Amino acid sequence: MSTLAVLGAGPKGIAIAAKARALAAAGLPAPRVILIEPGPVAGNWTGHQGYTSGLLPLGTPPEKDIGYPYPASWGPQSAAVTAAMAEYSFQRHLIARGAYADWVDRGRLRPTHRQWSYYLRDVAARAGAEVVTAEVTEMEADGERWRLTVDPGPPIWADGVVVTGPGPPIRVHGQPHQHPRVLDGRSYWLAAPAHEGRMAMNTCVIGSGETAAAVVVNLLDTAHRRSVIDVLTSLGVLYSRGESHEENRWYSDPGDWPALAEAHRREFLARTDRGVFSQQAEAVLNASRGFRTLAGRAVEIDAGDQQVVVTIEYGHERERVAYDMVVVAVGFHGRWFETLLGEQARRRLGQAEAGTGLERRIDVDLSVAGLNPPLHLPVLAGLAQGPGFPNLSCLGLLSDRILRRYVLSGSHWPEKKVSDLSA
Ligand SMILES: Cc1cc2nc3c(=O)[nH]c(=O)nc-3n(C[C@H](O)[C@H](O)[C@H](O)COP(=O)(O)OP(=O)(O)OC[C@H]3O[C@@H](n4cnc5c(N)ncnc54)[C@H](O)[C@@H]3O)c2cc1C
Repeated sequence: MSTLAVLGAGPKGIAIAAKARALAAAGLPAPRVILIEPGPVAGNWTGHQGYTSGLLPLGTPPEKDIGYPYPASWGPQSAAVTAAMAEYSFQRHLIARGAYADWVDRGRLRPTHRQWSYYLRDVAARAGAEVVTAEVTEMEADGERWRLTVDPGPPIWADGVVVTGPGPPIRVHGQPHQHPRVLDGRSYWLAAPAHEGRMAMNTCVIGSGETAAAVVVNLLDTAHRRSVIDVLTSLGVLYSRGESHEENRWYSDPGDWPALAEAHRREFLARTDRGVFSQQAEAVLNASRGFRTLAGRAVEIDAGDQQVVVTIEYGHERERVAYDMVVVAVGFHGRWFETLLGEQARRRLGQAEAGTGLERRIDVDLSVAGLNPPLHLPVLAGLAQGPGFPNLSCLGLLSDRILRRYVLSGSHWPEKKVSDLSA
């Protein structure tokens, strides 16, 4: 039996573990799946370790659960696999708690992030997910296998590795690592309780994606009414998602995504995923006068005891603006795992990347094309394989694509491989 190790017991890891159970229940030779996680299962959604207060509503509908979109990927066994996965659905979770009718009658409300974490933990427990409580500190390629150094505990050997999680927040030049007046998309939520009920403050939120949107909505809710909130966006304008069927369907069913020209795929991601506010956030902002949008890029942060000065560049102009607090919400480092790679693994990854950019080298099974042993990077799979793989939009398809390699070794997906595609 082969072993698949997953860094992180968040939605992606749990989806893979649950699917492996469903495959075994359907009589397929599933690999052993080990989730390696230093904190609590689904901890990033609880509000206890940053990223969210836990009370924010989930952006995607909860019907996009661990098994969604319940694809028929397994030939004659597909019906049995889908039936087994239906046991892990969000509706099943509510039914078991007597909360299903209430949820339907209230209009199928979005759960909070914390409620979502309860659902994920419930699935992990019912699927009997194997979780090793440790942090991966090094990943080294040793022949055909991975050797994972973990803390604490002995090394873990695996035939394939999946990396999950958003990675650390991206920083602006000069941004201190820790400062009471300079926060980011993760630390804001750890500090937010302390800021509630404060005096009027001038705050700058840097960024125009959903992480920034959540911070702005929270500030509008909690800040003193004479506070000034500037939202700094390098796009000049804040955009929101359309959420039309034509846009949404690519997230659920990306089979023909690779056939779109790369320029069109990049444009789609920019319009619907990165750097856009959700419609829920947009609805709150539409009803608020307590913020304004500034056009420009933050190029430098100079943090002092009393104020934080942000240098803003727009075209050929530069200005320095002082704030009481700055929140840098410009995204996360998707390639964070590279700091964990040993010498051999780094060399092989460099060869596989072949100077073309890692995002272009992600194959149908979400691994890096040409890299052995396999390294699956769903967070970087948006450009090459589909916009839903980095997020929660198609966890059932994500787990099928990854697991298929270990269940049917030697066989291939009908879709085209990276090497067949013209960029
Ligand atoms: C506030 C917020 C709201 C979001 N809302 C949505 C939404 O509504 N819909 C959507 O599609 N996407 C949303 N996202 C995007 C979201 O990040 C991803 O969709 C989702 O987290 C992916 O799950 P995951 O399993 O990859 O990561 P996570 O849930 O972040 O889990 C990764 C895990 O990896 C662990 N880990 C980190 N380092 C190591 C290590 N060295 N060794 C072992 N384990 C490690 C972490 O402890 C963590 O538990 C949101 C993101 C944020 C920040």
